[in-house]
Amino acid sequence: MTPSGPQEPELSAPPADPGGLTLKPFDVRLFRESSETTVAKLEKHLADLSLKGLSLTEPAVLSRAARALMTTEREHIAGYDEDRLAAIIDLYVKTGIQVHSPGYMGRQFSSTVPLAGVIDFVSSVVNQPSSFYEAGQLPNVVEKIMADELNRFIGWPADSFAMVTTSGGSLANLTAMLAARNDRFPGFWSEGSAAYLGQARPAIAVGDDVHYSVSRTAGVMGIGEAQIVRLPLNAAQQIDMDAVRPALDAAERRGLGVFCLVASAGTTSVGAFDPIDRLAEVARERDIWLHVDGAHGASLLVSDQLRHRLKGIELADSLTWDAHKMMFTPAPCTLLFYREKDKSRRAFRQRASYVFDEDPDVYTAMDSGGKTIECTKRPMIMPLWVVWAMYGRALFAEKIEYLCRLTRDVHRVLQAEPDFETTHYPESNILCFRYRPGWVREEDVHRLQVTVRDRVKSRGTFFISKVDVAGVAALRVVMMNHLITEEHFRMLLDEIRAVGEELCGNRQNDQQRVGGRR
Ligand SMILES: *Cc1c(COP(=O)(O)O)cnc(C)c1O
Repeated sequence: MTPSGPQEPELSAPPADPGGLTLKPFDVRLFRESSETTVAKLEKHLADLSLKGLSLTEPAVLSRAARALMTTEREHIAGYDEDRLAAIIDLYVKTGIQVHSPGYMGRQFSSTVPLAGVIDFVSSVVNQPSSFYEAGQLPNVVEKIMADELNRFIGWPADSFAMVTTSGGSLANLTAMLAARNDRFPGFWSEGSAAYLGQARPAIAVGDDVHYSVSRTAGVMGIGEAQIVRLPLNAAQQIDMDAVRPALDAAERRGLGVFCLVASAGTTSVGAFDPIDRLAEVARERDIWLHVDGAHGASLLVSDQLRHRLKGIELADSLTWDAHKMMFTPAPCTLLFYREKDKSRRAFRQRASYVFDEDPDVYTAMDSGGKTIECTKRPMIMPLWVVWAMYGRALFAEKIEYLCRLTRDVHRVLQAEPDFETTHYPESNILCFRYRPGWVREEDVHRLQVTVRDRVKSRGTFFISKVDVAGVAALRVVMMNHLITEEHFRMLLDEIRAVGEELCGNRQNDQQRVGGRR
């Protein structure tokens, strides 16, 4: 490319019927029309701030509704039908979890910054998959820019770290674990486990509350689930540091060669942060790879107030960071960071003549295909980058700080309510609690939470989740929407109590157990 930039191609009117084939769906005026219809609908959807959770439709019913919207034309390309499109968009919007409503407090995907959605739309039209520079030039350059921007909060030397995007945190965790395994057991890639027969069995050590995608890697990598060392947790649901060295010693005595220690920076169930700095000490001592699963909580790094939760992050070997959770971009958008860029190439050791160039140059040096399982993948960095480019870090920091503060506030609210108990102090924007009215018997507490959660969900005003904490079910809220206030949370408590009264009435009437079944 010359320094003056790419040459503008000369524009000439396209032939009216270039290939002798007129395909109406490709008409650019139709493109504009259908976009406008769609945007108008989405605008209305975003403007509606009423309390809504999820209205769950039976699959068979939804399937019938979807089929009824399909053209019955079987011979010819059907004509554009604006009403049909409008009805399809309506159905799509209506049947989703209402992530933009303050009633949504249930999961980790967020109300997205609307502009991020607009950029995703652009990506779909220009179709630039991003594993190879020539297919997605701007996405590849921007990946490097975003990596540098975010690495400012991790703190690695600018020229020695690496970042690759993956379709989700689960895939990032697997990729990092492969790099860790190949780092310690380089023969595994070509010879398989046979290369290490009779030696210490490859194993990983994880907190007992680690995300299932991490424990799943043991099966995928072929080291076997039996080679997972589960580290006990303390009362705050973090890895209990007193137990780590003894557990690793015991694993060694059992013939395990632990090559990777996984810390969670924000566990999925309660948002607890493992002590990264202290785990890093142990990892260094024993020459173990330290992977930090920050799928949920790595975003706290962009906040000056909250960054300390990931103290020691610069000592990690790899870090999973989901932007589609606390960076409010459309899913999926995950960034997998490596402290040492050479190690990022160790996850995969293949050659494929059709994509991996023999003579790397300034262009192919940008390719990320060698660092990831995926070949074609979305240019998922684009929505994140554009929002960052347009509004800067403060948008993210302010929203995250608000959500974490709100979660601490509602924790305080719960502590003043005699019929509720909390299971932990919220370190981020996830809070678990239990409804424990006077009438519930100890042995029914677990069942009550499950029933309450289901009934709250089916009422359709709030969407919350549930999770087991120390073996007993708890209600779980994840604050992902800055429109949620303490008042909305109090309304949720009233909703829970209303459900409780229904259940209690049932119980007194017909001596049924809570929820009616066991
Ligand atoms: C959400 C989550 C994952 C999985 O990430 P996906 O993007 O859903 O694949 C992994 N680990 C933790 C801690 C998570 O919260």
